[in-house]
Amino acid sequence: MSAPYPWLGASWSRLLATRARPAQALLLAGPRGVGKGELAQAWARALLCESPLASGEACGACAACHWFETGGHPDFLRVGLQEKTTKEGETRLATAIEVEQAREAVDFVRLSTYRAGHRVVLIDPADSLNLAAANALLKVLEEPPLNTVFVLVSDQPRRLLPTIRSRCTRVDIGLPPAADAAAWLDGQGLDDAATLLALSGGTPLDALRWSEAGDLDERRSVLESLVRPEQLDPVTLGEGWKGLAPRLWHAVAYKWLADLLAVRLQGQVRFNRDFAEALSRLGAQADLAALLKLARRQADEGRVLEHPLNRSLQMQAWLVQYRHLFD
Ligand SMILES: [Zn+2]
Repeated sequence: MSAPYPWLGASWSRLLATRARPAQALLLAGPRGVGKGELAQAWARALLCESPLASGEACGACAACHWFETGGHPDFLRVGLQEKTTKEGETRLATAIEVEQAREAVDFVRLSTYRAGHRVVLIDPADSLNLAAANALLKVLEEPPLNTVFVLVSDQPRRLLPTIRSRCTRVDIGLPPAADAAAWLDGQGLDDAATLLALSGGTPLDALRWSEAGDLDERRSVLESLVRPEQLDPVTLGEGWKGLAPRLWHAVAYKWLADLLAVRLQGQVRFNRDFAEALSRLGAQADLAALLKLARRQADEGRVLEHPLNRSLQMQAWLVQYRHLFD
């Protein structure tokens, strides 16, 4: 098995070269959408394989590889955000990794391994460990039991406790060169790789996500309203947009405001290149202080990404503020 994505080849080779003596606490850090999670997963699989290839890669055929594929390797634990059911019966992703999960990981590494090899704990997204959970993990990260490997994955390594960061061997995964990312997207059968890449800030997996599930159409319909602030009707639109997925809405709104700022301050569009003309016009017109305020609030909201109780009202309030930017 080669690197999960072509642009990860160099990082993958560097990891494989350490297979005989792997870092006991590894931190894979880098922007969203570059495949860190998949790399961590491949690394865990390679470490657990019981008859690895000469390159250090997993064989894909042994019992350990089989268990890993089917999600049942007894020496592998994945710690992530859990799904929770709300009072209204909706399923949502928790916003933090809780202390009980960290304690479970600590108990897990203190048991003896089932097989003779490594034991791997994958924590993704590691920056979501809450304070109590991070503290519970510190001790085992400091002195991991024999043959234990922790793999932490993070888009926002600055949000990790410094004491956790300092115990990890850090591997940074950067954005792939634009040409490589575009070539890969072309290979996935996408028509407009350049626009999608701009929209995703250069991260190929986000670009791919945009192209799926009708997200691009929803984005276009939202932006077509935002380009004419003087005509938009907050009540009707707020009602119409209340069903947009929070992640999609946040990504669209955040990037739109970021582009208005970029046009205003640097004279160029970063994300929405297909709307460059409208952005130049609106960016010049916007009240800078109010725009900064709205953009900052949008960035804060992105950390939560939950459905508020009254989404329609929240949308309306946002739209009223947006319209005022251009009064
Ligand atoms: Zn194997």
